[in-house]
Amino acid sequence: MNVSGIGMTSQRTRERLVQRLFDQGIKDLNVLEVMRNAPRHLFLDEAMAHRAYEDVALPIGHQQTLSQPLTVARMTELLLAEGPRNNVLEIGTGSGFQTYVLSRLVKQVYSVERIKPLLLKAKQRLRSLKVWNANCKHGDGMLGWSDKGPFDGILVAAAAEEIPQALIAQLADGGRLIMPVGGDKQALHLVVRRDAEFEHQILDSVYFVPLLPGAPR
Ligand code: SAH
Repeated sequence: MNVSGIGMTSQRTRERLVQRLFDQGIKDLNVLEVMRNAPRHLFLDEAMAHRAYEDVALPIGHQQTLSQPLTVARMTELLLAEGPRNNVLEIGTGSGFQTYVLSRLVKQVYSVERIKPLLLKAKQRLRSLKVWNANCKHGDGMLGWSDKGPFDGILVAAAAEEIPQALIAQLADGGRLIMPVGGDKQALHLVVRRDAEFEHQILDSVYFVPLLPGAPR
């Protein structure tokens, strides 16, 4: 895709977005730095790419969206709030943008997507960006990815009324799970495992597409 020359990738446009993220409360400098350099336009279809550095969610087809940059930054910051992560599970690869952001900040990312065409496109993008520490597969993320766990971070990019039990079960000691919970009204929930205890916090209100069961062929 040729997107140079239209100004959307300009450093100034990205600078403005990062300033906005900071103003909205994102304080983790590593997260801000990755957001500054992340080529969000490459995770969108050409028709949408000119809006890549606006702080809005954008359609990626199949009735799904690439999350708002503020949400991506916020969830990533929450994931990293108690130190670096080695093994992170993401549910809802979508465009692959959040996967990309995570790959720059943690050791290894595993990501599950239920819509095959989205998954294939995301994989292609990550490969062309030479991201080698992210593994993406087609499947039902409600089941997690048990043979790659336990995970010291789990980030879910789609909302459900309850946190799937399989995901809680794949959380390592000290692991942090972040997920939007609710129906029409949703909030980010944070679960931190400490030994056999699970601390539960309800944070910002958000809006996500639904977490759906199964993975159509
Ligand atoms: N992080 C993505 C956001 C995609 S929107 C991005 O940055 O682009 C949420 C994604 O979750 C959609 O692609 C949707 O297909 C996927 N999804 C919904 N339910 C799922 C499930 N049970 N397992 C895996 N992916 C799921």
